[in-house]
Amino acid sequence: MNISQERTDALLQKATWFLDGMDSRDARRYRLHLLPDVIRRLQTLGDRCDVCLELFQELEEMLGALVDEGGFVGGQKEMKHLQNRLNGNLKHLEQEHGIVPRRHHHTRYQGIGVVAGLMIGIFAGPQTLGIGIGILLGLVGGYAFGLVLARMAGKPKDLKAEQEDRVIG
Ligand SMILES: [Zn+2]
Repeated sequence: MNISQERTDALLQKATWFLDGMDSRDARRYRLHLLPDVIRRLQTLGDRCDVCLELFQELEEMLGALVDEGGFVGGQKEMKHLQNRLNGNLKHLEQEHGIVPRRHHHTRYQGIGVVAGLMIGIFAGPQTLGIGIGILLGLVGGYAFGLVLARMAGKPKDLKAEQEDRVIG
């Protein structure tokens, strides 16, 4: 089933009111700034993916109940619910449709590098250098390792996604 442009525009209007009413740094921190792009993608994919159609309807219901001209009208619990919902949407868009936020792969590989370095620092550090220095070296080394990974493995993937119009945000 097709999602009409009118429905999409109405939902985008809600998303705009929602984002206008909040701190833009908070919006970025919780990736809520991706909401308009997510809505547009769900509309396009909704005619061939039932899950996207359902996710679109869910967003319609949630934003319909929680947002008016003045912005968000719910409490902390509802905000958390909305964040979780958006993360679920992002997960579906990535896993089923290969759609990712900007610099997604770069960030992921950077994170993997830091965690790997930290683990090595924590487990190998104490025997050789003491735990404090081990963790410190693990963090520094992990960050550097992550940067290399991000450049070599993450960047080409981000570029490919960009060329194939699979990037949001
Ligand atoms: Zn889908």
